[in-house]
Amino acid sequence: MTRKLPIIAIATAPGRAGVGVVRISGHNLKGITKALFQKELSPRQANLLTLRDADGQTIDQLVAIYFVAPASFTGEDVLELQCHGGPQLLELVMKRCLELGKNDGLVIAEPGEFTLRAYLNNKIDLAQAEAIADLIDAQSEAAVRGAARSLRGAFSESINDLIEEITQLRILVESTLDFPEEEIEFLENAQARTRLAAVKEKLESLRVGARQGKILRDGIQLVLAGAPNVGKSSLLNRLAGEEVAIVTAIAGTTRDRVKESITIEGVPMHIIDTAGLRETDDLVEAKGIERSWDAIRLADLVIFLTDPNSTEDGLKEQILRELPPKCPVLEVVNKSDLISLGPTAAPKQAILISAKNGDGVDALKQKILEIVGWNGPQEGAIVARRRHLDCLERASEHITRSEQFAANGNNSLELFAEELFLAQNHLGQITGKLLPDDLLGKIFSQFCIGK
Ligand code: GDP
Ligand code: ZN
Repeated sequence: MTRKLPIIAIATAPGRAGVGVVRISGHNLKGITKALFQKELSPRQANLLTLRDADGQTIDQLVAIYFVAPASFTGEDVLELQCHGGPQLLELVMKRCLELGKNDGLVIAEPGEFTLRAYLNNKIDLAQAEAIADLIDAQSEAAVRGAARSLRGAFSESINDLIEEITQLRILVESTLDFPEEEIEFLENAQARTRLAAVKEKLESLRVGARQGKILRDGIQLVLAGAPNVGKSSLLNRLAGEEVAIVTAIAGTTRDRVKESITIEGVPMHIIDTAGLRETDDLVEAKGIERSWDAIRLADLVIFLTDPNSTEDGLKEQILRELPPKCPVLEVVNKSDLISLGPTAAPKQAILISAKNGDGVDALKQKILEIVGWNGPQEGAIVARRRHLDCLERASEHITRSEQFAANGNNSLELFAEELFLAQNHLGQITGKLLPDDLLGKIFSQFCIGK
């Protein structure tokens, strides 16, 4: 996916606007610039120019700015054309550029290709590249600020600090490996243990931050499961504090409402009601069901709702199978107002609520926030992705294992060092060092065109 040709795309959103930007990036854009405007442009100056058709007709009068490599967004030469923002006009500009840039191999950019080039030319690391997409997609003010912070490198910096600390620790270990008689001494050396403890603590705080950051970016995917009529829609309404779902006593009416988004104390919750998950011949419904399963595979939390009269409907096992590993499952018993038989009627561990009169719903909300690890909006928050969390999680596992090897004493030092190395690798994947190629393609293909 790393091609050398110059690329072009409309950088602004589709539709009418005051200004529309067309951007070209390539190793050397002098030829294309000259073909477009019959002259070279001095770098970083706004030039009011006319772009003309083959027959000399004006397409647009525009402002062109030339950025010379490496001082540009992509690290290549960049020509930015600020045109009038009409969709047809911008298409004409693109067409004319492609005509005149043909000899230089000018091609239309793929989604995220500008940012990919910025990344490949070391203008930004991968976490920062992702932050650009997250900034564009941000749905709340907090998410904007978090993405901007990540883009400025706050997240990457903490990751790099941690990698540096692990490197130092590894240097210490590897130098000891050359002198086996000192192994035990090393392991008893308080400094190494203290350092490892410090690494662990830092990693843990990064994980907490990243968990918050993922919530900030994505919200929480909450799966609401349970047999028909246990009160899923009623609970959804209660949680939302308004009428968002259709409550009805007839089973199977929640058919095309795959996802409801509500907020609980400012946290976006995307609630997937599993009521519609049944065999169907209806194409639209089948599509909805497939989307529900996709959402379930990304769940952050599952609530299994029962009521005192409900019986297992077989869906539970099926859902449990599809959940991502370690997805917490919360058992909730609804219709507590109908339970007159005392505490024995409900399973011990379960949370007891009444969607009808609201009993226990506030406690449930708190429990949900507690389980997903939301500590409220944080000063200095960053945005993060599941990918980042996975990397931190793996790094943490290796650090824990390294700790165990350290505790084992003799002959474990090599394994200790190996675990440190692996932890470091996983951290490096966050900023893009040591990243598998296919993953890179996947990340950038999710960007919008022209970015
Ligand atoms: P769903 O099929 O799981 O979405 O269930 P609904 O929310 O549509 O509720 C089914 C029926 O149970 C409706 O008649 C609700 O009014 C009733 N219901 C829901 N929650 C409660 C509750 O806490 N107590 C009582 N007594 N009835 C409830
Ligand atoms: Zn690993």
